[in-house]
Amino acid sequence: MDKVKLPLSPQRTTTGFAFSYVERALQESLANRQFGQDDMRKVLEFFEFEALECVYCGNVEIKRWDHLVAVKNGGETVLGNMVPACSKCDDSKRDIAFDVWMQSDFPNSPKSRGIENIQERIEHINAYIQHFEYKIRPLETRLTADELTKLEQVRISILQTRKECEDLIAEYNKRINGKS
Ligand SMILES: [Zn+2]
Repeated sequence: MDKVKLPLSPQRTTTGFAFSYVERALQESLANRQFGQDDMRKVLEFFEFEALECVYCGNVEIKRWDHLVAVKNGGETVLGNMVPACSKCDDSKRDIAFDVWMQSDFPNSPKSRGIENIQERIEHINAYIQHFEYKIRPLETRLTADELTKLEQVRISILQTRKECEDLIAEYNKRINGKS
């Protein structure tokens, strides 16, 4: 038992991480979500894939649907904004515009991985967006003035709650470790 590789210790869930998910939940829930099996089939028909593949890199190990325009940037879960993607691409792309990211030197971007036909892939994705007439509708344009005011209030109270959580954790750490 001398050199047993130990599993990683569990990552601590930070309050920043947790509250970023509350914001994401708000953005995703205050948005259009219409992406059923029929829509998925339409995507695959459009791209004419023989086998399912990642639109960014061609990887055939597809596990996810990715938002071309990230939820954070107002992207919705609808035809024209959803594409099949491999986890490597999805994790690397994050909230960056897909065409910028694909041609960037960002770790694990298609360019960094030496994927061929990047331009062609970008054009194909742009044609897909146009074909299904997808347009970005920022969160602010989807809500009424009244709803926007309520959202603003919710965000302020979330910030306050986050601060209270962090203060409590800091106090606890100070007591336990003598540091904050
Ligand atoms: Zn990929």
